[in-house]
Amino acid sequence: MEPPLDRSTIWPYVDGEPGPFHYARNAHPVGVEAERMLGGLDGGEALLFSSGMGATTAVVLALLEAGATVALARDAYYGTGVLLTEFERWGLRHVLFDQTGPPPASADLVWLEAPSNPLLTMPDFEAAAAHPGLVLCDATAATPVHLRPLELGCDFVLHSATKYLGGHHDVQLGAVVAKSAEHAVRLHEFRSRSGIVAAPDPAWLLVRGLQTLEVRVRAQSETAAEIVDRLDGHPETANVRYPGFGALLSFDVADGAAARAVETATQLIVNATSLGGVTSTMESRHRWEGARVPEGLLRLSIGLEPVEALWADLEQALAQA
Ligand code: PLP
Repeated sequence: MEPPLDRSTIWPYVDGEPGPFHYARNAHPVGVEAERMLGGLDGGEALLFSSGMGATTAVVLALLEAGATVALARDAYYGTGVLLTEFERWGLRHVLFDQTGPPPASADLVWLEAPSNPLLTMPDFEAAAAHPGLVLCDATAATPVHLRPLELGCDFVLHSATKYLGGHHDVQLGAVVAKSAEHAVRLHEFRSRSGIVAAPDPAWLLVRGLQTLEVRVRAQSETAAEIVDRLDGHPETANVRYPGFGALLSFDVADGAAARAVETATQLIVNATSLGGVTSTMESRHRWEGARVPEGLLRLSIGLEPVEALWADLEQALAQA
């Protein structure tokens, strides 16, 4: 049964007192239903935010103090580093580290990403779990289908629900799943105060996306593994990056000009940003990330199209390199 889409911003008090739902900035029914589903998948208490970056903002502002240090995986989504740099103006520090090894000892919060976007490295979870600070894993690209970081010693999982959880390139949302009830209460309190909230309509679409998450991600991952095998042997590609699971991969072509020629030549695969939808997308990441990534790097998010159709499209596009 689909949950009703209740767009109310107010609900009547019960016997003169606020009930579970009273004002939408605090909580609304379909948002709570989406959180119940996602919390079940990740094994913790989920909270929705208006975007993945909204979720990041809430974690930092709700749980850290001025002067605190975040140890950020060097490979993590470039926007995370950009946002943490914004927070330097309020006294937050961040240091970059190689997440395939132990995090710097002095950090208050360790920020992992599994697998990292777009270099597809995996964290050393054992080393991170031994760290005395809080540990968060952005598992946007893995999804709970492939990875449950709370079981590997992390305190939080973060998702850009805009990607696989929504799954259709039509939802902008973020989520944090907390292991401890205390952290969830604090994040909820901060969310209500700051207003970084998810509206009912995207939350309803998220519920619908979560209903098909497992079949989508499993099918997309199977196709991705096959495409990785074929790209590996292709004369125009090098450094095919894939962690062995999931539907996100990247590879290099000769240089920036070749990357542009290939990304603009695809017909089935959409030349667009973002990832995680049922429609495959591919783009050169150098345009956004600069020297962090090779000029010839192409990030490919595999959707639900048939593998042979995707391969035919890639082959003809790579012929333009
Ligand atoms: N985390 C990762 C790994 C991402 O790829 C992104 C967006 O690309 C984000 C976080 C930010 O999410 P949003 O775009 O929903 O704010």
